[in-house]
Amino acid sequence: MISAQMRTQVRERAQNACEYCHLHQADSPLAALHVEHIIPKIHGGSDDLDNLALACIDCNLHKGTNLTGIDPETNAVTELFNPRRQVWVDHFAWHGVYLSGKTATGRTTIRVLNINSEDQAALRSS
Ligand SMILES: [Zn+2]
Repeated sequence: MISAQMRTQVRERAQNACEYCHLHQADSPLAALHVEHIIPKIHGGSDDLDNLALACIDCNLHKGTNLTGIDPETNAVTELFNPRRQVWVDHFAWHGVYLSGKTATGRTTIRVLNINSEDQAALRSS
């Protein structure tokens, strides 16, 4: 169980923005950002703060119960970005409204979470 207090802590720690695509809550007025399990419970992930992240609905739905994906550049199975263990700017960079991956982890996360979908890009340009 994730308590209301823990949800507030996760939200504040993330400064009210998705920890994958950085969509801010203020830019998602119709949908609350989700508190998600970085390692999904189905894979043994815990309800500890260390395994929780704030994610927008698009990132969360695409992430689902995935832990890994295929790096589009090397075709190697690669772990998804972990916002608790890794530093965002080490793996991602913005090019206008599109995000690019600086590493295998970044590229794979963008692909699995569909971060550069037309809908997401349109949301960023508004
Ligand atoms: Zn997101």
